[in-house]
Amino acid sequence: MQQAEAKKHLNAFVEVFAEEALQKARALDEKRKSGQPTGKLHGVVIGLKDVLCYKGHKVTAASHILNGFTATYNATAVQRLLDEEAIIIGTCNCDEFAMGSSNENSFYGNTLNALDESRVPGGSSGGSAVAVQAGLCMVSLGSDTGGSVRQPADFCGIIGFKPGYGRISRYGLIAYGSSFDQIGIFAKNIPDTALLLEVMAGPDAYDSTASEAPVPSYSAGLQEKANGLRIGYLTEALEHPGLDPEMAGVISCWVKDLNARGHDVQPIDFGLIDYIVPTYYILSTAEASSNLSRFDGVRYGYRDHRPGLELTDFYKETRSAGFGKEVKRRILLGTFVLSTGYFDAYFTQAQKVRRQLFDKTQLIFKDFDIILLPTVPSPAFKIGEKTDDPIAMYLADIYTVYANLTGIPAISIPLFTHSSGMPFGVQAMSNQLSELSLLRFAHQLAGE
Ligand code: GLN
Repeated sequence: MQQAEAKKHLNAFVEVFAEEALQKARALDEKRKSGQPTGKLHGVVIGLKDVLCYKGHKVTAASHILNGFTATYNATAVQRLLDEEAIIIGTCNCDEFAMGSSNENSFYGNTLNALDESRVPGGSSGGSAVAVQAGLCMVSLGSDTGGSVRQPADFCGIIGFKPGYGRISRYGLIAYGSSFDQIGIFAKNIPDTALLLEVMAGPDAYDSTASEAPVPSYSAGLQEKANGLRIGYLTEALEHPGLDPEMAGVISCWVKDLNARGHDVQPIDFGLIDYIVPTYYILSTAEASSNLSRFDGVRYGYRDHRPGLELTDFYKETRSAGFGKEVKRRILLGTFVLSTGYFDAYFTQAQKVRRQLFDKTQLIFKDFDIILLPTVPSPAFKIGEKTDDPIAMYLADIYTVYANLTGIPAISIPLFTHSSGMPFGVQAMSNQLSELSLLRFAHQLAGE
């Protein structure tokens, strides 16, 4: 709590529930002392990205349009954390409606990277990443639609994990792109990541897209070693002209060394890498334009109170003032790709590419257990460096959006330091429902 106060200038939190968290901690202490059995997350202090509903607390997706809105129920993931006696310390800053890669699109202002305050922490879950990076909480939750957990984790030098689509219920997560969104975990080690996943994963009557598949005991499963894995790396990713040459060199050498650790490492011929970012930005904005139509000033948060406005003008004025620039850009883009005359050329075409990516990925997993690639093309950039160039910002999502397009689990593991002084790591992916082997592998890489 004192840490959160001392590091307030990082702007990692939108709100800290100081008094409430202290009371909860005292109550948990009493319970433990009285000898009652304790939950799996007894006293673990957790931050929530400002897109997750926590009953009775404000949730705004870092947007003016949700100003003053209070959650009326708990997200399933949040409920499961609370059931295991976690302490929710506060809501974390992020890009508005999780749209962004630098946390510069927040209504509450940007978050600073604690390792170099002139740099961005990444996004959209930048506040959640910094809260763990700077030790303001033990673990935190973000949402990952196209890399929003893995990319900020990489920029901040911590672990960022996105489970496969459907592993964790999305009930109570404010939607951006519903067929991509997944709640993700920030942590400093793999055992913490595994424990959180174990608590939150599993079927949910409130979300029909949550997987019915049984949930393994991820923490116990970590005891088993990751041996003799078939690992493929995407040559196209490592040779991509957009990748920082220093990072390319370090990662390429490191990948080849994995053979010496008893794995079988081979290059993968992929062939589709340049289609990934356009496909993601067509489909995710299409879904966003539909999801965000509910914010009309009538049902939630901010509204234009001027008397005498016609209904259409009321919607227009409310949405124009309530949404920020990037969100409006994406609603326009999404509406365009869905509109008559353009639907087939953009939306349908992108759906076909998504299918191709999925099929190709399933083929790859016939021969490989793990796919390796960088998490990001460059380390954390300076605040303001890319704000005027949305295309450059979008292109930086090249390595992360692939896992969301195909619904597979992915993790970013911090391993190296760049000559700029900033951390960077590698990203590993496994097939759907294979989170356990991915976590085991990451456990080995992280040297824990
Ligand atoms: N940076 C990506 C985007 O701006 C990813 C966002 C996310 O995962 N929420 O859409």
